Amino acid sequence: MAAHSDPYNEFDRERLVVEPPKAAGLPGTDTEHRTDFARDRARVLHSAALRRLADKTQVVGPREGETPRTRLTHSLEVAQIGRGMAIGLGCDPDLVDLAGLAHDIGHPPYGHNGERALAEFAAEHGGFEGNAQNIRILTRLEPKILDAQGYSAGLNLTRAALDAVTKYPWRCDEQHRKFGFYDDDADTADWIREGAPARRPCLEAQVMDWADDVAYSVHDVEDGVISGRIDMRVLADDDAAAVLGRLGESSGMGAGLPADHLVAAAARLSSLPVVAAVGKYDGTVGASVALKRLTSELVGRFASAAITATRQIAGNGPLVRYAADLAVPDLVRAEVAVLKILALQFIMSDPRHLELQAHQRERIHRVARWLLAGAPATLDPVFVPAFNDAADDGARIRVIVDQIASYTEGRLERLEPAEA
Ligand code: MG
Repeated sequence: MAAHSDPYNEFDRERLVVEPPKAAGLPGTDTEHRTDFARDRARVLHSAALRRLADKTQVVGPREGETPRTRLTHSLEVAQIGRGMAIGLGCDPDLVDLAGLAHDIGHPPYGHNGERALAEFAAEHGGFEGNAQNIRILTRLEPKILDAQGYSAGLNLTRAALDAVTKYPWRCDEQHRKFGFYDDDADTADWIREGAPARRPCLEAQVMDWADDVAYSVHDVEDGVISGRIDMRVLADDDAAAVLGRLGESSGMGAGLPADHLVAAAARLSSLPVVAAVGKYDGTVGASVALKRLTSELVGRFASAAITATRQIAGNGPLVRYAADLAVPDLVRAEVAVLKILALQFIMSDPRHLELQAHQRERIHRVARWLLAGAPATLDPVFVPAFNDAADDGARIRVIVDQIASYTEGRLERLEPAEA
């Protein structure tokens, strides 16, 4: 079905489990009108794991604020930005779009704070990593396709789709805090990465990664301005910019750039008319339009800079898979870093924040002990076979972690486990 000039090949479109054609179409109708990657995207969009992100924290909790951003809305925004970039680069828009939809699909309740608690709980048995959990959900946890032995093959996406979701294409090791695959999923990882250059993500994953950075830096600042906790005019204040620069360099949030690069980036941003136009935000129609204009222009600035720089190096043909790396100029990398630091400073300055996070981690640990003590009776039916088949403590802990990672925050908070 692929056109002759399709830059993707049969290997990219291969699925782990061979599937029969759809069976419920009316006789005489064609049910195969979509590309493989459009089908992949639809599978992610229709998954329960994606919908659960509606009740998982992005930066502030799902029930805070009048226009909340959750992991789900964030994922939709990453998908949208990535899709636009894919059009500019000539990679498949559905592929980058689905990578955006799925890039946080393995996130546990409470965002990175929940990740930390689960990593502590499973520290002796492979730990926890949201990115590795993404692959686990897509390839074995989300119920959609069964393999020949009757085990779930997850959504059974194409190789190129799973690779596009993989930002960190390596297993847990000493050198890297982040990783893309648990040892338990080594066979699947080898299949996804067959023939791929070691430790290099494909272009589609690099685009998703940059779209993620752009989305959360710009949107966190937008949320901060609306809530009254960020005033964009600080970027024009030399002393405040110097603090941002030092914080960026010392915290590692400055994209590895020296403080003076970050200070210069703050000055560049503050001199943009769209930044100056926001001024002191007061919630009026005029201020709201100025703020929306700001977010839209910044997203365009950061996405276009990467497309143009990549094109300058890699030429004008369609760029897919390993044909090119995404080139992000240091100038815009510094600007995105400044926005992230700005947002973080204001979120962290909330005195309730650290206390709330400690409570959240304690809840996850308590629920984990309760689940383990009572399993399999405490588990959802879909997790029971894996628990009963588990050969050792490590495998049992992995099932408990899978169960907790699947919980929404609402469900986690309705559980009242007696102390195990
Ligand atoms: Mg994200």
